[in-house]
Formats: sequence, C-alpha cells, structure tokens
Amino acid sequence: MKDFDYIILGGGCSGLSLAYEMQINDKLKTKSLAIIETRDNYQRDKTWSFWRVHQHNFEDCVFKNWDHFTINTKNGIEHKECKLFPYQAIDSGKFYNKVLNKLKQNKNIFFFKEKSGIDFNKSIIFNSIPEIENNEKNLWQHFSGYEIETEKDFFDESIMNLMDFDCDQRNSVHFFYTLPFTKKRALVETTWLSSMTDEKEADYDAQLKNYISKHLNIKNYKIIFKEQGKIPLFKTSNINNKNIINIGTAGGMTRLSTGYTFLNIQQQSRYIVNNLGDITNKKGFKIPGKYDFLDQIFLKVLKKYPKKMPDIFFNMFKSNSKNIINFLSNKSNFFEDMSIILRMPKMIFLKALFEK
Ligand SMILES: Cc1cc2nc3c(=O)[nH]c(=O)nc-3n(C[C@H](O)[C@H](O)[C@H](O)COP(=O)(O)OP(=O)(O)OC[C@H]3O[C@@H](n4cnc5c(N)ncnc54)[C@H](O)[C@@H]3O)c2cc1C
Repeated sequence: MKDFDYIILGGGCSGLSLAYEMQINDKLKTKSLAIIETRDNYQRDKTWSFWRVHQHNFEDCVFKNWDHFTINTKNGIEHKECKLFPYQAIDSGKFYNKVLNKLKQNKNIFFFKEKSGIDFNKSIIFNSIPEIENNEKNLWQHFSGYEIETEKDFFDESIMNLMDFDCDQRNSVHFFYTLPFTKKRALVETTWLSSMTDEKEADYDAQLKNYISKHLNIKNYKIIFKEQGKIPLFKTSNINNKNIINIGTAGGMTRLSTGYTFLNIQQQSRYIVNNLGDITNKKGFKIPGKYDFLDQIFLKVLKKYPKKMPDIFFNMFKSNSKNIINFLSNKSNFFEDMSIILRMPKMIFLKALFEK
C-alpha cells in the first residue's frame, strides 16, 4: 500500500484548484499528494462564469470580461453596468492545461485513476465527489449550450445577456443565457431551474435551435462546442469528518439560488492552504449562513410560484448593480441585503418563511 500526506479525490475544478494553490504556495516541496481522478483525458467541458469580485489564479484562462449585462422578460429589458466587478468566463480547457502542466513538474504529486493500492488511513483527504440522494423534491439548475460561429458579424460583444425569460416557461423556470465572445462567436445556453421531473425540459437541442433561429434570428451558423450539465441547488449529503474535508460542490461551495461555485472554490482553496498545518482542527470554509437561509426561502418561492419568477428576477436586478452583484457573490453587507430583500414580493416571501 502506498501512502501520501494528502489525497485529493476528484481532479475537477475544486481538486485541481486546491492542488494548484498548494503547489504555488510551496506546500508540496517536502509533502506528497495523490490526485485520484477517473477521467481518461481532460478537455474543455465547461465555461465557468462569475462576477470577478476578487482576484483569482486563472486570469490567463479567461475568455472574456464584460462590463455590461442585460436581463429581460416579455415585458422589458434592464441594462446594467458592472465595470467594478466585470463578468468573466473561464475556458475549462485552458484551466486544466495550466494546472496539469504546473503539477506535473513536481515529483511529489502523483496521479491515479482509482483508489486501490492507496492507504487512506495516514492521509488528510480532500474529497470533491458529491453524494447525492435521489429525491424528487430537489431543485437543479440544468442546462445545455452551443457555442456558435456566425457567417457575418452579429453579436455586440460588449454586453452579455444574463437571463432572457422571453421564452416558453412550461410551468417551470426557464431562461436563455448568451455570452458573446466576439462579433461572430457566442455561447448560447438554455437553462431550467426545476426538479427535473419533466423529461421534456431536456429537449435542449430543439430549444437551442429554435431560439437561435427564431429569437436571435440567426440562420447561418456553425456549432463549434457543446456544453451540458446540471448543478444541485441543494446541499449534498457529504459530511466532513476528522480526516476528510469536502471541497467544491461536495463541500457546499455552490450558491444555492444561482449555482455559482467557481469563485467560492477559489476562496475555499486559499483558506485550506493558508491553514494547511492545522486544517483538520479548523472549522472549515463556508458560504456565510445568511445566504443559505435567504436562498432556501427564495427556492421555496421558486418551487411554489414558478410563473412569478421572471418578474421576481427582473425586479431584483433593478437594484443597484453593486448591491446585486455583491449579494449574488456572497459579499453583501446588511444594507445591500436589505436593498435586495425589499424588492421581493412581501406576502409570498413571508409565507415561504413560515412554511415547512
Ligand atoms: C457544465 C457546467 C457548467 C458550469 N458553469 C458554472 C459557471 O458558469 N459558474 C460557476 O460558478 N459554476 C458553474 N458550474 C458549477 C461548478 O462550478 C462546477 O460544477 C465545478 O466543476 C464544480 O467543481 P467540483 O470540483 O466540485 O466538481 P467537478 O469539477 O465535477 O470535479 C469532480 C471530479 O471528480 C471526478 N470523479 C467523480 N467520481 C469519481 C470517483 N469515484 N473517483 C475519482 N474521481 C471521480 C470527476 O470526473 C470530476 O473531475 C458549472 C457546472 C457544470 C456542470
């Protein structure tokens, strides 16, 4: 049996972010690390986007920064500026390359495809494999996207569309999301917030083709990349114990109301590395509890009143940009929280607060 000082289970976003943070902070000069990851090879599989509310290690993997965004419903459009905290999109392909090239230079880092032959008793384990119970009540953010290239200049690449609710809602919550990388190239995603019990919602290709041709009015385009996924909008069942520290989605780094996870993972990695010597005695890095509390109420309303959600989101984004971005990025103060909460329809949120 081989043993290591540290083991990372799952070499995805959080496993590799943590290993990279350890490496660049010289934590693996005399200590060994095993990364256990089942995938055969790494290629671009996701586009991680977020408002850049703090610095991170992957600026060189950014596709693009946007200083403006829009959100719209059938009834209107809201333009927002976000120069202070630009919206960024990260190319996961570049991220994997950058991290793996760095890690492979260190002879104390070992890569495995399975657990067998490794002694888990002597190591500190960082686990990023989520445990998810089958429960029809759970809400998911599920989506599929095409990155398309048009023949002629079409997109205004200076402004991204965060949410376009002007589409079929099917008794659920549905919007399109468009990230224009250049005048000719954009990622267009169809996104649902639902319990995933209606199989028809997964009819993503038809939804995307229809939106691109009928709504965006683009007839000639090539699909150059496809992305599909689902993000749990509930806590996974992973439990930390003395020597197992859960990270990433498994470690509660997903913001429940939005699915944003990437920057939280970077903060968690930094926290772990800053406290590595004593990490098993530390409380663990958490998204502040007030967000869990507020998000749970928000999701109860979403589940009960899906038809009201386009207007609720739209109203929320009428708030000052800094307030809303700080709130969605877990950085808001009391006054910023209040500016968002006061935009919510009071009766249904109060009811949701007291309902089980
Ligand atoms: C398609 C997609 C797009 C997303 N876009 C955004 C976004 O725009 N912004 C944002 O903030 N968040 C986004 N997220 C949410 C979140 O940032 C990502 O899911 C992120 O990858 C989570 O990191 P993680 O390390 O927890 O999980 P992962 O990155 O999924 O890593 C887990 C790793 O464990 C491996 N694994 C699984 N089982 C085993 C096993 N038994 N043994 C060994 N290895 C195993 C998997 O192969 C994987 O590499 C997105 C999620 C998806 C799915």
